Amino acid sequence: EQAPVITIDGPSGAGKGTICQLLATQFGWHLLDSGAIYRVLALAALHHDVALDNEDALSLLAAHLDVQFHPSAEGVRVVLEGEEVSKSIRSQECADAASKVAVFPRVREALLRRQRAFRQKPGLIADGRDMGTVVFPQAQAKIYLTASAEERAERRFAQLKEKGYDVSIDRLLEEIRERDERDANRKVAPLKPAEDALEVDTTGLSIDQVLVSVLSHVEKSL
Ligand code: C5P
Repeated sequence: EQAPVITIDGPSGAGKGTICQLLATQFGWHLLDSGAIYRVLALAALHHDVALDNEDALSLLAAHLDVQFHPSAEGVRVVLEGEEVSKSIRSQECADAASKVAVFPRVREALLRRQRAFRQKPGLIADGRDMGTVVFPQAQAKIYLTASAEERAERRFAQLKEKGYDVSIDRLLEEIRERDERDANRKVAPLKPAEDALEVDTTGLSIDQVLVSVLSHVEKSL
């Protein structure tokens, strides 16, 4: 019998990362940050001078990607070809490049098995754009988190400011809108809620408030 899965999908800045970490800790389950896989692939492409529009080369790179995920106290450590890349994959450049490589069907196909391998006992919390629709359609509980683009930009702004980065909120908002548009309009696995997902608009909600609705849905579904 396969391990149970809870999927959390939605656009960037909707609070998926935080909620998934909290659930994984509380349940003692594995965590799949699928966005990190697309980010690592994008970084590998940049390192190896693979053009971000070359589907053949990108899908080959995806099939042979040498990446490891090591859970640690500070979150998951990501290692690409022996090099720690946990910080560098979080750059805006990587986010942007990730959403460009993610449009290609054969790239997504090449990453499917790698993502499904995270489904292990006692269970998995899967964070992404297509976890409930494509990667784990049989998931026990599906959640779709959203928030207004303005609020997501503000959250991102506060996060970056805390880390000492000087960024413009208008620029962040513009980047969020561009990436949402690319993710929502691609032909394969576009960003959209699964039919059986609970949708939670987190605009104006605290993390605790979001967690309460998510947990009540999960408890009913498991
Ligand atoms: O979630 P994160 O911001 O790290 O994802 C980076 C990009 O990777 C997204 O903008 C999206 O284009 C792509 N992605 C995807 N499918 C997923 C997770 C991420 O296409 N399941």
